[in-house]
Amino acid sequence: MVYHKSVTDLSTLPKEKVIRFLESFDTVVTDCDGVLWILGVPIPGSSDVLNKLRDLGKKIFYVTNNSTKTRDELVEAASSMNYVINKNEVISTSYLTACYLKSIDFQGKVYIVGSEGISQELDEILIKHEGVGPDVVTSFSDALDFTIHSEIKAVVVGMDKDFSYRKMIKAATYLNNPEVLFIGTNTDEQFPVGGTKIMPGTGSLVRAIECCSLRKAVIMGKPSTFVGKALVDEYGIDPKRTLMIGDRCNTDISLGSRCGFQTLLVLSGVTSLSEVLELKKSDSEENKELTPDVYLRTLGDLMPFLTDQ
Ligand SMILES: [Mg+2]
Repeated sequence: MVYHKSVTDLSTLPKEKVIRFLESFDTVVTDCDGVLWILGVPIPGSSDVLNKLRDLGKKIFYVTNNSTKTRDELVEAASSMNYVINKNEVISTSYLTACYLKSIDFQGKVYIVGSEGISQELDEILIKHEGVGPDVVTSFSDALDFTIHSEIKAVVVGMDKDFSYRKMIKAATYLNNPEVLFIGTNTDEQFPVGGTKIMPGTGSLVRAIECCSLRKAVIMGKPSTFVGKALVDEYGIDPKRTLMIGDRCNTDISLGSRCGFQTLLVLSGVTSLSEVLELKKSDSEENKELTPDVYLRTLGDLMPFLTDQ
């Protein structure tokens, strides 16, 4: 028998059903960009809903594939947009990268193709690093004019506004040694910016380095289950009573499905309603994993159901 998820707009369900849904989870794992804000601009209504869920006793975790900010910076940014948030509730890919290196007792220096979000998290656990900041070649004749540092034992690729051909050369050179670890923070292809212009995401940079190094990166962020495992192992959450909220099916919803969480897609970011409806029609196992249980136009649409709670 073909199984189709009954994915529906949560806000169109009878109130009793929505209340039952709200009572079915006690942990919320929420994505940030595209759910709570877009490029630093708050999405109206999201903070009211999330703060209300917290008031109702739900545990909240902010899980972001963004590697450009440290947890402290994310707390500061979210607080300024009225989100109630603590550092130990933030799980970013730069933090996960640091946790991963610590968990394997990493010895050596890291070459970063990325930003200060990563370097500062590595500083916190006293791992040396280099690479953050502009580094360009001015001509092909001096492209290979750099020193190879033998203490580099890992290459970490995250979001990098200074991404360059020189950095590709260095990363590929270090990764030419199979002993050197290759970590990518996440695989998001594009940023949710709205409008017609496109901003390439970290996944585009990771793939560029994968291509020129002939290696595959170990991925820290969603949909890698590394983050879900950390939530279960370190924070003791119950997957069955956990709700994953996200704006992107191939990262957020996929992670939720793989970890056994319930899933709620909001249409305020990357994935559109037409894409969800296509997924809903699909018979493939792979697409089933990408299909949310329910969706909302925006997280704020949940507020009318929370006001009497
Ligand atoms: Mg997002």
